[in-house]
Order: sequence, then C-alpha cells, then structure tokens
Amino acid sequence: MKKLTPEQKQELLQRYADGWKIGLLADEYGITAKAVEQHAYKNGVKRSAAYIREVNRKQTDTARDAAIVEAVKSGATDRQVAAQFNITRQRVSQIAKRGGIRRPTGAPTRRVAKACELCSEPHFNQKYCSRQCAGIARRRQSDGAR
Ligand SMILES: [Zn+2]
Repeated sequence: MKKLTPEQKQELLQRYADGWKIGLLADEYGITAKAVEQHAYKNGVKRSAAYIREVNRKQTDTARDAAIVEAVKSGATDRQVAAQFNITRQRVSQIAKRGGIRRPTGAPTRRVAKACELCSEPHFNQKYCSRQCAGIARRRQSDGAR
C-alpha cells in the first residue's frame, strides 16, 4: 500500500466515516479500494451495513444503467433490452431518458444511418459523422472559396 502521511490517513478515515464512496477515496489518495477498506477496518472506522448496502446498490445500479443506455444506443429495442436486463420496458425507457437518449415517445426509434459526406462513415447527424469531419469540411470550403 502506498504510504500516506498521518494527516492523509486521518483525513481518509474522516471522509470514510462521512460516507465518501470507497472508489472516490481510492482515486483521491491513489490507493486501491481494498486498501481503503483495510485501512478503515484496521482503525475501527465503520459504516453501517445498511449504508454500505445502499452504496453498493447505487453503484450496481449505475453500472447496470450505463450498460442499458449503451444497449439502447447500439440500436436494441426496448423489448430486447428489457428481456436482457430482466426489467420492464417502461424502466428501460426511463433509464434511457435519464441517460440522455432522446426519442420520440410512442413509436420505437427507427433511424437510418447516413454516410458522412466527408469520410463516408455511417452516422445519424446532419451531414458529417463527427465534429472533426464537419470542421475539416468547413475548412476545405473556406479554402476553396479563397
Ligand atoms: Zn466523417
């Protein structure tokens, strides 16, 4: 385990007791999550089991939700995603919405990919697949106009 100064250790334990997430503490102090827990355990700093369960549940949900958002983005239907994650379709659309996916309500999204006018990469934007391509195209245009 990386050596922390006594001040850092004190601070770490305080933050741990305050309820900072273990992963966050690990990042902050450049040590592993396991080291954070061992350190707290050695020093007798405890958090309630209910609290830990709650944190774990949130972290699990976050990871799962991210996977759901990815699945929706990749073009799976709500029904497929719901079956995959064993949740309702309503829940899928809630999570997708929270994950920043905007879809017209009602009809399932059916978008047709267009080819980027610059690099021919399939995409769902206006003309170009990316800001980079749009930027290059803009530069080319202004160069040509000169
Ligand atoms: Zn492109």
